Amino acid sequence: MNRASSPTASAPVGRLTTPRATVPVEESRKPAPDALTIGRRLRHVRQESGQTLGDVAQTVGMSASALSLIENGKREPRLSVLTALAEALGTPLAELLATAPPTRRAALEIRLERAQRADSYHQLGLPAVKIGPRLPMEALEALVGMHEAMASVQAERAATPEHARMANAELRMRMRAVDNYFGEIEGMAAELLTAIKHPGGPISRAAVDRLAGHLGYSLVHTSDMPGSTRTVTDMTHKRVYLPQPEAGQHDSRSLALQAIGHLVLGHRVPADYAEFLSQRVEINYFAAALLMPEQDVVPRLQDAKQAKDIAIEDLRDAFAVSYETAAHRFTNLATRHLDIPVHFMRISREGVIYKAYENDGVSFPRDATGAIEGQRVCRQWTARRVFEQPDLSQAFQAYTDTRSGTYWCTAVVDRTSDGLFSVNVGVPYQSVKWMRGRETTHRSQSRCPDPSCCHQPPAELAERWTGHAWPSARAHSHLLAAMPPGVFPGVDDTEVYTFLERHAPTG
Ligand SMILES: [Zn+2]
Repeated sequence: MNRASSPTASAPVGRLTTPRATVPVEESRKPAPDALTIGRRLRHVRQESGQTLGDVAQTVGMSASALSLIENGKREPRLSVLTALAEALGTPLAELLATAPPTRRAALEIRLERAQRADSYHQLGLPAVKIGPRLPMEALEALVGMHEAMASVQAERAATPEHARMANAELRMRMRAVDNYFGEIEGMAAELLTAIKHPGGPISRAAVDRLAGHLGYSLVHTSDMPGSTRTVTDMTHKRVYLPQPEAGQHDSRSLALQAIGHLVLGHRVPADYAEFLSQRVEINYFAAALLMPEQDVVPRLQDAKQAKDIAIEDLRDAFAVSYETAAHRFTNLATRHLDIPVHFMRISREGVIYKAYENDGVSFPRDATGAIEGQRVCRQWTARRVFEQPDLSQAFQAYTDTRSGTYWCTAVVDRTSDGLFSVNVGVPYQSVKWMRGRETTHRSQSRCPDPSCCHQPPAELAERWTGHAWPSARAHSHLLAAMPPGVFPGVDDTEVYTFLERHAPTG
């Protein structure tokens, strides 16, 4: 089974095997007792009455082994059988059907039974402990405690959307605090470039090979990469496997550099989703710092600033990278080296934020947890207006008055297999004098989060349609779904190990 499937999707639906963490909710919603509780109550009442299994079984006309199965919660008794049993034991039926376990020990036994029946326990391949009178109370307590502690750790690792959003928000604050500039990574990138005697300028594919070689690794392109991965590094044979570059794609420099980034930056196996996420950001930064070396980009940007002619497109063209990489790199370096505060955004055609950073005070829309991913930006913002332009291949520049000031932004539409996105870089009004495209006459007013700005339909339309429309929403599953569990979220380990076996050098 694919480890990437979410815990909710693979969780058993039956109440008996529901993991402990969700039991209270289930119990409050379904007051009917389950087979385990009924069995424990039945045994308790029988033992109190002083009768043996055989005695009671004979009275109600069933075999002792069948009654034992019921007492162990392995068989659900029909109501008629329960009625007969209650009569044989001289107890009201309600006594057997009560939802509370009869004793503390019975309660623990039920919890242990449930824990041992859970899929997550079976996945460990460990034997189930026999639950019976010979199991000491303290062993029972300890086992239940450990099972439940493990379940809560697992629940934490399977980062929920809330976890993911908080991790994203934290990371964004960290980047803001350092003006989106990671000096340590810049330093490592510079050292590596010196080590391979890089002459300066954009790094070539051959230089990436030399860089891997310098670290003792080789880059291997293959057409059968595991579907759940972008790259796989074989740390035994020191190889980085990469996909064959697709038609229309420049090359795989960026992917290779990201894979190398994990090694150079000394990443350990991520302990949680937040660490996974920050590793992602670091390898992206590392790759960009090599594709567009600080010592080459900064003089260019300084010259452009001098000439009041800074343009993201020039960076893109000079270093043969995507517009997004160039925009990202500008965001890294602009404040530190040019004294220009900046914001960066990547949004979908529907206006939904996928990625955004700022240190210029622009107010991104955010939810109650402070997260911005999945939020919709104002219709008046340049990042959205670019989609309305007649020629989507052109960069679009505009001024926007917002509640936190006036910004000038430049946006470009990025066509991907997942649809259209816009990549947007913006600066506050007082910095626009350095930017190419500042003479634009496009200007708009954004009054968001005032709902009358763009979130509320115009009064006339609202009057006509309120109560007469029922749209079905397109879910943004990538943003709302729980993050896949596993050490490397979303990666299918079996697939990866099979792949490595297939490709590993023999002997
Ligand atoms: Zn608005």
